[in-house]
Amino acid sequence: MSQSIGKGAFGKVYRGLHRPTQQRVAIKILEKSRIEQPEDFIRIQREIHILRKLRHPNIVQLYEILESESKIYLIMEFVSGGELFQHIVKNNKLSEQDAAPFFSQIIEAIEYLHSLKVAHRDLKPENLLLENDILKVVDFGLSNIYTDLLNTPCGSPCYAAPEMVSGQKYQGIKTDIWASGVILYAMICGYVPFEDQNTRKLYEKIKYSDFSRPSHLSGQVLDLLNGLLHKNPQDRMSIAKIKMHPFISKYSYSIILYK
Ligand code: ADP
Ligand code: MG
Repeated sequence: MSQSIGKGAFGKVYRGLHRPTQQRVAIKILEKSRIEQPEDFIRIQREIHILRKLRHPNIVQLYEILESESKIYLIMEFVSGGELFQHIVKNNKLSEQDAAPFFSQIIEAIEYLHSLKVAHRDLKPENLLLENDILKVVDFGLSNIYTDLLNTPCGSPCYAAPEMVSGQKYQGIKTDIWASGVILYAMICGYVPFEDQNTRKLYEKIKYSDFSRPSHLSGQVLDLLNGLLHKNPQDRMSIAKIKMHPFISKYSYSIILYK
């Protein structure tokens, strides 16, 4: 095992090598001593339970889970191209044409998760990794199986949906759609749509979906953003509608088909 490649609330992520196959892996090590609250144990069990079931080209593959007295080891596919976040920062912002294939892959991952009744609930560019042009979702720490309405405020404030910040009962699937809109905006603008040093003001902006529409954005992407960032979850765009939107079909030639 070598240097740490990421640090989380309960442990770190390392790069590793599976000696028999020489395959590179990522190992998320959770320190049991850092887990004091019973709800945190539940959170981790939930993450493992969810990850074990998932098989999708846009979702990081969990190979194995090992446990010692003090640690839990999640051995996963290693994604070598860094975070989408770094990719946006490096390029300042992405063109709509470059952003479209990444956005489509996020939607593919969300569609698959939702078909399994799973909501991610913490989608943001730090949890989206790149391997060449392929995007992979990681970090299911805050996701849940949404057989019922969810009402725990969670996730990262800038990516949180209105129903999350106002503490209403909400369905996880619609909050993932909202987060995909925030990510699309961040890709093509280079900054997030809802920002404020003051958390109360930030929440107000989110609740009213109050975001600026810079003049360089095309009419098509604005129409899509308006549908994704709709303040009422029930009026927010469905996955089926998103996939049929002209912004997606316009750039579909640049989307890699891997099914
Ligand atoms: P946290 O709960 O700390 O956010 P994550 O699972 O998001 O944990 O991992 C933290 C960081 O580690 C990620 O943002 C990413 O940079 C890196 N990372 C996580 N999983 C992998 C992986 N499979 N391959 C490469 N890097 C990873
Ligand atoms: Mg993370």
